[in-house]
Amino acid sequence: MRWKKARRSDNVVDQRGKGGIGGKGLSLGAVAVIVVVGLLSGQDPMQIVGNIAGQAIQQGGINTGGTSNQAATPRNEAQTEFVRAILGDTEDTWRALFQQAGKTYKDPSLILFNGSVRSACGLADSAVGPFYCPGDQQVYLDLSFFKEMEQRFAATGEFAQAYVIAHEVGHHVQTLLGVSARVQAARKRGERVTGHNGLLVRQELQADCLAGVWAYHAQQRHAWLEPGDLKDALNAAQAIGDDRLQKQTQGHVVPDSFTHGTSAQRERWFSQGYKSGIVSQCDTFSAQQL
Ligand SMILES: [Zn+2]
Repeated sequence: MRWKKARRSDNVVDQRGKGGIGGKGLSLGAVAVIVVVGLLSGQDPMQIVGNIAGQAIQQGGINTGGTSNQAATPRNEAQTEFVRAILGDTEDTWRALFQQAGKTYKDPSLILFNGSVRSACGLADSAVGPFYCPGDQQVYLDLSFFKEMEQRFAATGEFAQAYVIAHEVGHHVQTLLGVSARVQAARKRGERVTGHNGLLVRQELQADCLAGVWAYHAQQRHAWLEPGDLKDALNAAQAIGDDRLQKQTQGHVVPDSFTHGTSAQRERWFSQGYKSGIVSQCDTFSAQQL
């Protein structure tokens, strides 16, 4: 994949080494404890808070749960540039498609983190994989997920990684189009949204399809795919389907807890978007057969 052809986004925020707890600041609870301890011991609480906050920053966060203070290694640098290129290209694609539909696309930010991260959706650690938080309209990505894709799921290739980013951006598109809100409203009304035919699976498969729509337009603009690239993305869509993930981690498949769709479904919907490049082809919500 000749990704260097893409414009680099300015919306990638590198929070690696900062951690989800500490780093950016101590929790109110921690500050309250420090103030009490300070008052009891006669020390100036603000001095203690300052010292601990200083340490937290030096250590790259209290409790990052992972390696912190990552040096900007050449591999890291190249990966960050790759992420900026893919995000930049999703911006170009979705801005144009929104404009054609008389709408305005609002770029999401993409937060690079390692260990754990605090989002408007709560504290998350790397184990949850990449995710999108509608509350702050940001994509969260720990680059170690790409290594895991390679090592555990044999999903290799840059286009496979691009697909993962484009899928999360797909959730952002859903948020802007009001799809996510409709799913949330159904959930609040007490409708069952889980299950192999439920709204959550439909939402996930639509994000795959939207990733395919992006891939189509990107290819139109750059002709950047090389032999094997499409297979890589389809392979990744398959490899990180819920049925495979569950087989890998639990040894058996539990269909009722599917949220992303099966491997075959993910591959099918990504292809559906990629073949046409048309958003209306991604109506997983009316589809009889997923
Ligand atoms: Zn998703």
